[in-house]
Amino acid sequence: MHEYDLPGFHATPLRGTDHVTPLEDLLCALTPPLEYLASAPHQIARAALPLDALHAKIDRTSAVAADTRVRAALAEVRVLLDRLARRRGDGGTAPVPGGGAVSAPNAGEGMIASTETPAEVLRRMLDLVAMLKSLPPAESAPAGYARSAAPVGPQIEALHMPVQFVKGVGPRRAEQLAKLGIATVDDLLFHLAFRYEDRRDVRAINALRPGEEATVEAVLDSVQERWAGRGRRRILEAVATDSTGALTLVWYHQLRYFQARFRPGQRIFLHGRVEPLRQAALGRGLAPLRVIHPEIEILEGEERAEIGRVVPVYNTTAGIPGGAMRRLVHSAVEHYAARVPSALPAAVARRRGLCDLATALRDVHQPPPDADVAALNAATSPAHRAIVYDELFYLQLGMALKKSALAREPGIAFTVPAAQAARLAATLPFVLTAAQRRVIAEIERDMAAPRPMHRLVQGDVGSGKTIVALHAAAVAAESGYQVALMAPTELLAEQHCQTIRAFAAPIGLRVALLTGAVQGKLRGRTERAIARGDIDLVIGTHALIQEGVAFHRLGLGIIDEQHRFGVMQRATPKRHGTNPDILLMTATPIPRTLALTLYGDLDVSVLDELPPGRRPVVTRVYPQKQRERVLEIVRHELDAGRQAYVVCPLVSDSEKTDLLAATSMARDLAAGPLVGYRLGLVHGQMRADEKDEVMRRFRKGDHQVLVSTTVIEVGIDVPNATVMVIEHAEHFGLAQLHQLRGRVGRGAHRSLCFLVASYARGDQARERLRVMEETGDGFRIAEKDLELRGPGEFLGTRQSGLPDFRAASILRDGALVRAAQEDAVAWLAADPELRSAESAPLLEVLEDRWAGRLELARVG
Ligand code: ADP
Ligand code: MG
Repeated sequence: MHEYDLPGFHATPLRGTDHVTPLEDLLCALTPPLEYLASAPHQIARAALPLDALHAKIDRTSAVAADTRVRAALAEVRVLLDRLARRRGDGGTAPVPGGGAVSAPNAGEGMIASTETPAEVLRRMLDLVAMLKSLPPAESAPAGYARSAAPVGPQIEALHMPVQFVKGVGPRRAEQLAKLGIATVDDLLFHLAFRYEDRRDVRAINALRPGEEATVEAVLDSVQERWAGRGRRRILEAVATDSTGALTLVWYHQLRYFQARFRPGQRIFLHGRVEPLRQAALGRGLAPLRVIHPEIEILEGEERAEIGRVVPVYNTTAGIPGGAMRRLVHSAVEHYAARVPSALPAAVARRRGLCDLATALRDVHQPPPDADVAALNAATSPAHRAIVYDELFYLQLGMALKKSALAREPGIAFTVPAAQAARLAATLPFVLTAAQRRVIAEIERDMAAPRPMHRLVQGDVGSGKTIVALHAAAVAAESGYQVALMAPTELLAEQHCQTIRAFAAPIGLRVALLTGAVQGKLRGRTERAIARGDIDLVIGTHALIQEGVAFHRLGLGIIDEQHRFGVMQRATPKRHGTNPDILLMTATPIPRTLALTLYGDLDVSVLDELPPGRRPVVTRVYPQKQRERVLEIVRHELDAGRQAYVVCPLVSDSEKTDLLAATSMARDLAAGPLVGYRLGLVHGQMRADEKDEVMRRFRKGDHQVLVSTTVIEVGIDVPNATVMVIEHAEHFGLAQLHQLRGRVGRGAHRSLCFLVASYARGDQARERLRVMEETGDGFRIAEKDLELRGPGEFLGTRQSGLPDFRAASILRDGALVRAAQEDAVAWLAADPELRSAESAPLLEVLEDRWAGRLELARVG
């Protein structure tokens, strides 16, 4: 059962490179899955450990290990690995089965009893890994890492020169390159190929077999458009020949484009899957094998030199043919690659097996004859790794630096433990979950320290973030400070206020709501009370900060649903008072690599446990044509006194069209399947107060059904709503579906979620939605979503706050993200202000990177 892959594992890129010792290779492969499992112990049962690969690496390492400590540790790792693996598929945290005696030979005395829990096994393994990592580096030096010495400024300057300085780039080319976002010399140097073609294996046509993929060098004989399929459509057909035979080429689409490109007599490279020609076509004297929509490159004179090589294929633009693009990049490499500074410390390069950037750039643009094409195409070649790691290292170093600068700023040392906060736990009608207690302890530690807290709490919908926030508020209040709690919308602020008041009253915490809806005398009175310090906790929207409400003594800012605000705004509360603590909360579980990239300058706490007794929302996917059955169940629930949501997605880019869709859906429902029930409608084009009004009425039960676009996504809490119908569910991302689904299942009654979707048989959409039927685990869903849609879409493109990487990919390079973070933090710990001589070139590159693309969408 291979349910899903560990994030980042496939990025483990050490494919047969001589830069890396077997031990380093093993540790690189072993660490990410272990760390991942350790950060999410509830996943153990589901994780598919790549056992065979790991065992092979352990064997390889043991075979060459001279050190007895290494051999003993490896033996233990082997046993523990199997023990973990045996856990697959049988959930829970019960002791690992497998019986008493440990049968491993060479088992060291550190060996733990086989009755340990998976978490304990993991911890032991991580200890072993740490021990192995701490051993002195093996004697094998990195092959050719040439570190640049400071100053590197002049080199960096040279690389920022306009791209016209590259030989072969004139004004016209420069203009064309600008369309690809290539303005400077280093833009061109780092314009990486999106694909590599293996021309080391050029085949003769008469040796081709149906079904195989092959590259052929040939001459175009004829190019002809004709009617096909009993005259129903036009196709383009060509015959290509080499000295051994002929091959038919067929195009079905973009005929005009291809027609214009090809002329008989052209020499071409073509690549594609070879298949037999159909009988009918054979009759017309065509060659017996064909390739449909082959990839074709027209050869221009000197390119013969590229036969027998691995050739990069670049993203290009109108006016620059592929071959010309290649020549431009090569020219840049020729004259400038050697000037690209490699400032990473040599020790880091050695540990990670990295070559310098000059070498890496040459290898990605002009792969050596023995290059591994698969690795190049997967962007995991040693050269790619060096470039990607370099980029990630400066991102992480910059964030670590920001974090440590923040940690040196003066902040408030709140009194902990606080009696008021302790009373809170005692007055709750429930017991805090272990996760809540852990996160509260983390927050208290931050608050007690004389530095400003910057912590993000991640917790799935319903994991109980409100209480955690309230606890922090009580701690601040006890020390005589005020707290601002900011929600994304006025309605959510009101809702928070209602729930929080109930919990706050028994402990004497004074709470006030201050939103745009609070007007007139009440507003004046509230504002004065806040300014006098008679209010402990002010609940509102971001306007609390933006409009500069005057606090008496603000000590803590809590921002709920952080991702809604975007990264841009998260630093703003700082302007008020002196460095208040900041607590961010989000219900979007963010996979670890992404969190490191986005929030590397924050501390992160995870609420990875739901309060007991939650019943999962029963989720079912229905095809569009069974929608009537779904609505029948909805009517049944409504008749039983429950309420329902019907959600329509943003199906187009035009808000108008979406509005139409939601409006007409509401009308159709009201006139048809839900006739006689009370329906309300909210959509994105309504003013905030109009939206809030409709939702308020839904909460009160005036509306039985709320038809909406996705505006209900965050936070609304109506326990009586037990059914959700999501129309056109295939248009939603999984994480978004999960958020939406979190709106039901909040009360005592069993809840249902129906995903109504259009999909073809065997469609990916069905598979994707199946994840929603199978799990309610937000982290698992988030990982799947991230994997399927990529980070930009996952976060919502508009305010993703992601740095603009030129080579790195969060999905592919998870292992390197973690490695870079580890190294950057360690480097900074040893040289906190980057003052040492070794840090000098680092600092120069860092400043350059952060002034450029990494700084995008980030604030300090
Ligand atoms: P979210 O993390 O989505 O903001 P809330 O803080 O709104 O979650 O909590 C969801 C519900 O669970 C609330 O009704 C809250 O009172 C309740 N709750 C929170 N913590 C616990 C707990 N430890 N045990 C039982 N119920 C809890
Ligand atoms: Mg909440």
